[in-house]
Amino acid sequence: MPFGYHGCYLRIDVSSGAAKRVPLADSVLRQFLGGSGLGVKLLLDEGAAVVDPLAPDAPLVFAFSPLVGSPLTTSAKFAVVSKSPLTERINDSLASSGFAITGKGCGCDAIVIVGRAPELSVLIIDETDVRLEPATEYRGATCRETETGLRTRLGKGYRIASIGPAGEHLVRYATISHDGRHAGRGGSGAVLGSKNVKAIAVRGTQRTDWAYPAELTALSKSLSKRSFGPATAKYRELGTATNLLTFNRFGALPTRNFQSGTFDEAASLSPEELSSTRSKTRESCMTCTIGCEHIYSLGKNGVRVEYESLFALGSLCGVSDADAVLRASQRCDELGLDTISTGGTIAFAMECVERGWLNESWLTFGSGEALLRAIDLIGSREGLGNLLAEGSRRAAHAIGHNSIAIAPQVKGLEIPGYEPRALQTMALGFAVGARGADHNRSGAYEVDFSDKVDRRHVTLDAVRHAIDTEDKAALMDSMILCKFLRGVFEDFHVEAADMLRIVTGWDVTAAELRETARRIVSAKRQFNLLAGWTPAEDTLPERFLTTPLPNDPEASLSRERLDSLVAEYHRQRAW
Ligand code: SF4
Repeated sequence: MPFGYHGCYLRIDVSSGAAKRVPLADSVLRQFLGGSGLGVKLLLDEGAAVVDPLAPDAPLVFAFSPLVGSPLTTSAKFAVVSKSPLTERINDSLASSGFAITGKGCGCDAIVIVGRAPELSVLIIDETDVRLEPATEYRGATCRETETGLRTRLGKGYRIASIGPAGEHLVRYATISHDGRHAGRGGSGAVLGSKNVKAIAVRGTQRTDWAYPAELTALSKSLSKRSFGPATAKYRELGTATNLLTFNRFGALPTRNFQSGTFDEAASLSPEELSSTRSKTRESCMTCTIGCEHIYSLGKNGVRVEYESLFALGSLCGVSDADAVLRASQRCDELGLDTISTGGTIAFAMECVERGWLNESWLTFGSGEALLRAIDLIGSREGLGNLLAEGSRRAAHAIGHNSIAIAPQVKGLEIPGYEPRALQTMALGFAVGARGADHNRSGAYEVDFSDKVDRRHVTLDAVRHAIDTEDKAALMDSMILCKFLRGVFEDFHVEAADMLRIVTGWDVTAAELRETARRIVSAKRQFNLLAGWTPAEDTLPERFLTTPLPNDPEASLSRERLDSLVAEYHRQRAW
């Protein structure tokens, strides 16, 4: 067995409480590494692609990586991988901190959960003992209340991942929360909720050895030092929202359900403005030396402010009242809702109301009050919330009027805060993304902001760059390292190969890692093919292909251009 691994995964059937350790072949670990890659491989082996994602048989994988537990900066991460109840395609979402280290400390490289517990339960993995305990007293509790309550009940040493009311109500974009961070996209919280599991508590101290400990110490110090340099300064100073005003200047800040790329009141949501009027603290995920998290004071617990939440609950819904947007973000965290899909679905509904397709006159663009009301309805699936809990694609099919043309989603996953007509390499990344429209599995927006392409008139040259960012993301999500580190590497593949050599003892090369990345991307495609993917899914909603941005007519993306980019992407992938 290579260093850095335990060489097995823990498979738990929560219907019966039965648990077993299943060996993982060295070749599988080398081919899929960990995180997203290992998670997809395990799902394929489980036959998950053809199972209803909310059925008891559907597996939910928590996957660690060889770097977890090492002193390498940003390495305390885990991937949650399943078939998405929102897209019915592959879903992998990542979260950080102690759950990763303690979960791996239970002596396994992944945890696979199947079945359905007879009552709302907490799954406790205590080193070698696995058991279920009732958690009915936490029904309806927020993620934070559940974690706090279980820590008190179970005692020291446990790390807890939980769902909020949204996961219990099977909202299709419910999250799994740990320590205030979320495995956010694609509805893994609903999958856990469908298993009647309110929380997973892990306690374990089994450590893996490293192949070359002295080299690992030296590399960790060097990487930490570099991570604190100019490449990450903007994230430390202003957080992930650092680019909000730049995006607005470029006409790339999605506004009023993608009716515009500029928001006149963007300044009120900018981190510059927020930090001049509110107190805040800075936090980091465990083992991270970058520290991009900015927590603004708001009530007892404060709120973590991210670009994606500000855009989705702010400009996308036309809401400029910063207090309302911060409260909306906090409410999503409490209920366990993905802020991007929540904002995207509400903004879509607001436009349907504006067009007279939905008879909910209270739900208007710009109203912070309506935004907060809609979020609470979604979390409890009450009234209109029951429709919106299904996501914008399913809601559009129910509303009719060809509203699917303006539903801001790809494969059912709501589009993040990058206007595709203004950032056309990103448009391709969204269209072909295995889990749907996604800025974490494709970093194509970086290409748009470089001198490699003309972002509003991209040509087929952009395709290889988009593929490179997708492959790199697959590698980072499998090793697992935070994407905010990417700017500190001179040659990521060379340095990543060295990192893996030092940790595992493998004689791995940059060329092998490029091949590994392609294998992982292909495995996701294989999953989607088995789940019923058709070529028609690799596209964008009609709005983006027929209507230029009103303030920037040059930001125009025709169906022909997107189709040619997608066809070239498939050709270069040899799919
Ligand atoms: S850079 Fe931010 S998201 Fe990444 S590990 Fe550090 S604190 Fe977490």
